[in-house]
Amino acid sequence: MQIKLWGVRGSLPSPTTNEEYARKLYSIAEHAIKFKLSNVADIPGFINSLPDDLKHVYGGNTTCVSVTSKSGKLYILDCGSGVRLLGYELMQGPCGRGQGRLDIFMTHFHWDHIQGLPFFTPLYVKGNTLTFYSPFKDQEKYLSEQMRAPYFPASFGGTESAKKYIILDAKKKTPVRIEEDLVVDFFPLKHPGGSFAYRFRQGGKTFIFATDAEFTGEVFEKGHEKTHDFFQDADLLIIDAQYTLDESFTKFDWGHTSYTMAVNCGLRWRVRKLVLTHHEPSYPDSKLHENYHAAIEHGDNCKNDTMEIYIATEGMTFDI
Ligand SMILES: [Zn+2]
Ligand SMILES: [Zn+2]
Repeated sequence: MQIKLWGVRGSLPSPTTNEEYARKLYSIAEHAIKFKLSNVADIPGFINSLPDDLKHVYGGNTTCVSVTSKSGKLYILDCGSGVRLLGYELMQGPCGRGQGRLDIFMTHFHWDHIQGLPFFTPLYVKGNTLTFYSPFKDQEKYLSEQMRAPYFPASFGGTESAKKYIILDAKKKTPVRIEEDLVVDFFPLKHPGGSFAYRFRQGGKTFIFATDAEFTGEVFEKGHEKTHDFFQDADLLIIDAQYTLDESFTKFDWGHTSYTMAVNCGLRWRVRKLVLTHHEPSYPDSKLHENYHAAIEHGDNCKNDTMEIYIATEGMTFDI
């Protein structure tokens, strides 16, 4: 499976500000002086030597992830503003010819997970079919309402593509099998109004997407064996890590996790690759960079020597 991140920001789109861009430029110039950069040929090496937060931006788009299976079939997780960029890419293939068959799994329907859909070009192409999956029985209503007048000029139901809605059984938790050798199942998360994690398994590999979730020490206690069973041994877990530990105490019950707790979860569940996502919109890249290194340090203090820790960055891909 290949997993690609199209939107990694939580709560609302947060483009880089000019102030932040100016700070980055200043720091880059300082690094150039230290590096004694004087030749054009040395620029690639210089760029490579920069700290991550100066090499790129983490990204301001809200949640959207794609999963490409071994057969090349594409699955989408959430339709935050990142789905707009995915839409442009999809228009180069069958979706541009009205032959797209898209399977979209929705974690929940908070604004930052649906707001990209009105700008998802394949939605407007006749012949495409978009199938939405979630345990929320009113998912069609939720998707339609954000495009109702006077909020948007086109109605969701009036767009040219065909839509299907599959309501997943939250009680029986029956897994979804769209391809013979690929199984998708799901798990409820602690979040205002509820949210769901999705687990993709194919060819002995496991990818789990668990955003908009408030994990606390409780999940390691007795009575939470099901949580352990669902998450254990994932090859790749993309997990909510919106806050610092201090912030998570002041924002208890807001439905998000600290990076410290996210690392604890990954270690306890023996995850191989852990990706921290749903970045707090008020954090500039320098703060995210700082948090990322603090998360790695926390892992080291917990004697982590097996789990790779990443910070979600727009455009990042993982092959498992
Ligand atoms: Zn969210
Ligand atoms: Zn949410």
